[in-house]
Amino acid sequence: MTRMGKVYLVGAGPGDPGLISLKGLQCLRRADLVLYDGLVNPLLLRHTPATAERTSRKASPLGPAMSQQEINERLIEAARQGKTVVRLKGGDPYIFGRGSEEALALAEAGVPFEVVPGITAATAAGAYVGFSLTHRDCASAVAFITGHEHPAPDKERIDYDVLAAFPGTLVFYMGLHRIGEIVQALLDGGKEPETPAAVVSQATLPQQRILVAPLHELPHAVAQAGALPPSLIVIGECVRMREKLQWFEHLPLFGKRIGITRPLTQADATIERVVELGGQPVLLPTIEIRPPEDWAPVDRVLQRLGEYDWIVFTSANGVEGLFGRLWQTGGDLRQVGRVQLAAIGPATADALERFHLRADLVPDAYRAEELAAVLKAHVPGRRVLWARSTRARDVLPRELEAAGAHLDQCIVYQNVDREQLTPEELAMIEQGELDWIGLSSPSIARSLFRLLTPRALAQLGERVRIASISPVTTEAALEVGLPVNAEAIEYTWDG
Ligand code: SAH
Repeated sequence: MTRMGKVYLVGAGPGDPGLISLKGLQCLRRADLVLYDGLVNPLLLRHTPATAERTSRKASPLGPAMSQQEINERLIEAARQGKTVVRLKGGDPYIFGRGSEEALALAEAGVPFEVVPGITAATAAGAYVGFSLTHRDCASAVAFITGHEHPAPDKERIDYDVLAAFPGTLVFYMGLHRIGEIVQALLDGGKEPETPAAVVSQATLPQQRILVAPLHELPHAVAQAGALPPSLIVIGECVRMREKLQWFEHLPLFGKRIGITRPLTQADATIERVVELGGQPVLLPTIEIRPPEDWAPVDRVLQRLGEYDWIVFTSANGVEGLFGRLWQTGGDLRQVGRVQLAAIGPATADALERFHLRADLVPDAYRAEELAAVLKAHVPGRRVLWARSTRARDVLPRELEAAGAHLDQCIVYQNVDREQLTPEELAMIEQGELDWIGLSSPSIARSLFRLLTPRALAQLGERVRIASISPVTTEAALEVGLPVNAEAIEYTWDG
């Protein structure tokens, strides 16, 4: 008999991919199957090795419609096959998320489950928009209300007269399409028409928008300005606090969509940085990092590592490639011996640090010319190893050999161009929906150019701007015909 699996009902938080709990993250890491709903930020799926399927009540280009019944059955069936299943739901699973219906179905079927709470849209919106849902002076209570009553008339339970008299903040979920009726019912119940009110759309995401108006004018304001789902209606004095308490919209990249062209395996830190700064990272890898076709030359070099005077690294991948292989093949740092280590820049030096190694030399400007210039003094007559990729500039070997070094080059990883962009990726550029694309190497610049259509190219420089990591990358971009709008002063993604 197969061992019974388990279902974790996990709250994914309101949108910002940082707003998931540590426990939720741990569940994702060990899942075999993830079923996520339409509110979940797909960036969270980076944290799981599992197959992830989107569930939606409506059919869309992303997949067919799935009824609640079908979702329940999928969860039960997968758990019975012994799988660890994560049911990932926007916000908190038990706040208007039908999580309890799923949990009840699991309980009835005798499937073990756990529930991991999430940050619900209302509290997240309060924090990110700048109103505290409770406050000693103006809100002693808060109510979360569905604006989308259960369709069966006998289940209509919301008493708007009671809500109108409620001594605190009212937050309506799923109410945007009924905002006129909701506001009218509250006014009819005696709610003060001038009560501050707001509609908060896409809270905690870079597209967050907020409309503020006195309660009686709110439906009109929404009709005029429009509001995109998902949206909350927030009613109460606390809305006034926003003037002093807003911060999210002041972040430097707020509202900006940033195309990240780094290989997926290296994009994590950049994704997190963009999110931290209020921007929306859009993954747009142009090259893939793969292991070398043949490890044999690397393994031979690893046997003689201690014979070198210097090992030179021109990327973090080079470090991972060489020392990762050393570890995998049963070796360890003792084989490195007294070799001196040179790194082209801080990211490469960081990669060394992860192996508990310190770079002996990092040039002030992070480029091959600079690295060669500072290394030159150290290498005459010395044995130097360069752990490189299939594609690399010839500056380093030329300069080092001219300086009298005995140089060995060893390919420890491959840079492979992507064949094409997905239609969605291309459409974003063609329609000018990206604000910036970051380029972090000459080969990325060249492969991006190759992947773009004339329509996409026409957007570059104007609507979709390009930021280059360094002068060398800028030069490569300009050479193929990509415009460059900005260049980093420090040659790193952070720069
Ligand atoms: N379980 C979710 C709510 C699901 S109901 C939670 O705890 O947040 C879906 C409703 O949630 C939407 O109609 C909208 O009212 C609200 N919502 C979810 N995410 C939101 C967001 N980022 N900004 C504003 N409202 C959001």
